[in-house]
Amino acid sequence: MPLRYEGDVFRPPSEANSLILQATIGCSHNRCTFCGMYKRKKFRVRSLEQISSDIALAAAYMPRTRRVFLADGNALTMETNSLLKVLSLLGQAFPNLQRVTLYGNPQDLLEKSSDELLRLKKSGLGMIYLGLESGSAAVLNMVKKGVSPDQVVEGAGKAKEAGVPLSITVINGLAGVEGSEEHAVETARLLIRIDPEYLGLLSLMTVPGTTMYRQFQKGALTALNPWQLLREIRLVVEGLELTNCVFRANHASNYLPLKATLSKEKKELLFALDSIIRKKTPGSLKSELLRGL
Ligand code: SF4
Repeated sequence: MPLRYEGDVFRPPSEANSLILQATIGCSHNRCTFCGMYKRKKFRVRSLEQISSDIALAAAYMPRTRRVFLADGNALTMETNSLLKVLSLLGQAFPNLQRVTLYGNPQDLLEKSSDELLRLKKSGLGMIYLGLESGSAAVLNMVKKGVSPDQVVEGAGKAKEAGVPLSITVINGLAGVEGSEEHAVETARLLIRIDPEYLGLLSLMTVPGTTMYRQFQKGALTALNPWQLLREIRLVVEGLELTNCVFRANHASNYLPLKATLSKEKKELLFALDSIIRKKTPGSLKSELLRGL
């Protein structure tokens, strides 16, 4: 019998081989102007009985599961004790379990204490995928993210203190041509303050039905072309000084798959971006796409 998934289920690219388990349905925020992922879902936390029954089912079919991703949009919003219970059930069900990850909003981190996050880490929480989207206060405000840059730093600091690695997501092209420079510069500045372990960059895909889609349709925002998107990425990378961060832009939305360990390969990444931007022909982007970086 298959697991009972409710509606469309999303996961980060790096969780392609993980067992996806819905601990919550939808997103408790669900107001970001660019996001259509959970518009059809009313947010709720699934009952421990439902989650436990799915875990038992998965354990019967996939007893060697090593990685689990807790969906949907922000399972971190669950009460800490419930989340601890889910982690404990997963540990009992899967003897080879190596890590459990989930999506979290900055608001979820603000609502948890470092001590709670430490307990979650000790019980198996291996990483939090945190949607930052932009480091610019103006852009965060425009897309209705619901938090300020300072609040993001405060929440992320609790995860740091607890030793829970963060994988931060930023959206390339989010502010349109109009806000591209500020978006890039301020994002790099905020990322320096957070100093995450992982940074994932995806390109904006406007979704019909969202506020942002209408803004682009009406001309209030202008979409970046592939070259402008690459220049924006270059500006972010140029501004970054991070301790030990793995950078990836390998989402299906990205024109050019990129990867680098920023502390060691920033120069090489900038060089690669410059060489493609300098050529500026459709053919050069296509050939880099085929070759990969
Ligand atoms: S917090 Fe994340 S999942 Fe929720 S609406 Fe915003 S982008 Fe979408």
